[in-house]
Amino acid sequence: MNRLPHRWPLHWQIISALFIGLATGHILGPENRSIPVFGFAGDLFLRALKMVIVPLIASSIITGIAGLGSSKSIGRLFTRTFGWYMLTSLLAILLGLLLVNAFQPGLVDGVPVGEKMGLSELDPVTSAKISGKGANDLANILMRMIPENPVGAAAEGKILPLIVFCLMVGAALNALPEKLSAPQCRFWESLFQVMMKITGWVIKTAPIGIFGLITMVTATNGLEALGPLAKYAAIVLAALLGHVFITLPLLLWFTSRISAVKHYKAMLPALVTAFSTRSSSATLPLTINCVEEEVGVSNRVSSFVLPLGATINMDGTALYECIAALFIAQAYGVVLGPLDQFLVVITALLASIGAAGIPAAGLVMIAIILDTVGLPLEGVGLILAIDPLLDMCRTSVNVLSDSCGAAVVAVKEGETGLYKN
Ligand code: ASP
Repeated sequence: MNRLPHRWPLHWQIISALFIGLATGHILGPENRSIPVFGFAGDLFLRALKMVIVPLIASSIITGIAGLGSSKSIGRLFTRTFGWYMLTSLLAILLGLLLVNAFQPGLVDGVPVGEKMGLSELDPVTSAKISGKGANDLANILMRMIPENPVGAAAEGKILPLIVFCLMVGAALNALPEKLSAPQCRFWESLFQVMMKITGWVIKTAPIGIFGLITMVTATNGLEALGPLAKYAAIVLAALLGHVFITLPLLLWFTSRISAVKHYKAMLPALVTAFSTRSSSATLPLTINCVEEEVGVSNRVSSFVLPLGATINMDGTALYECIAALFIAQAYGVVLGPLDQFLVVITALLASIGAAGIPAAGLVMIAIILDTVGLPLEGVGLILAIDPLLDMCRTSVNVLSDSCGAAVVAVKEGETGLYKN
């Protein structure tokens, strides 16, 4: 991990920035006139991270796949990565399903929360976003994976089609004779190193950026928003914690003999950044940096597993989708039977795959699930107020699971000497 010239390790600087930001935001409160200054510092950091995403993803995937050798090893890597991602997302959803059924957060004192609160109005932006969503959107997700114009996809920051195109370029380079592929491979490898260098510089500013982001969010969203949603928020947080402290550690240990404590410690800077930015994609440069520098995974594995994970593997979002949809059903006083709950599980999985790694993407995707089981879309209005806080937590879990996937796949690919630092 890049360190500032001082002796204080970066992860401690970032964690301190988080807590100082929480305290400062709380003290300043929503009316304070200095809040935009903090927002400005945070946005600068966020923009700098976003600046490297497209060239970093493209060069990282092409270099990674081009260096894999036979199509058999590409297939093996893909199966392992995809297998991990689907397994962890499903387990996360099932844990969410269990807790939301056991504790029924949609009922307070036996009365559906919807009646107590009156459904909050959707703001025009959110309602415009979700009104076009529906079950047909799932087919569109597949359709949108193939870019009509890869340069356009890159320019618009559409990550999934960009990944698909880069996977193909990498595979094609692999299939060509060396004489033809070598100049391209050298170019992409060099571009990748340039992007990692810039990422290193951006990471050094993380403590200031994170301080700015957290101060602004804390000042503008006090905990008062919780109200009758406290039980719902507690169930989402309990499920996220259960996934982080029970499911993932057991999987890490039993599949690959990896200690969760060591892994989580190595990933701290990326986790705090995910928490502050609420974006898996914006955190990707840090995730790659931590996984390669601190965990010790090869670039060959991380460059394939992580960009894919930031886009399709969202355990936190998956369990959140399931809990939120069932919470809304309970809040409306609707009882969903086993078949409907099964539908929720499957759609939550697909929605988490289709959700972009950006703030509030998961919130918008809930509309797909509500539509599938026939619940009114306005139900999303119930959970709007609490979403930013839950988004921070679920994004950290999304990033954590991606990084666990990279470590597990590395072990399965025969890599040794991880966690040496
Ligand atoms: N913000 C999340 C992420 O970037 C997605 C979500 O809204 O659940 O991973």
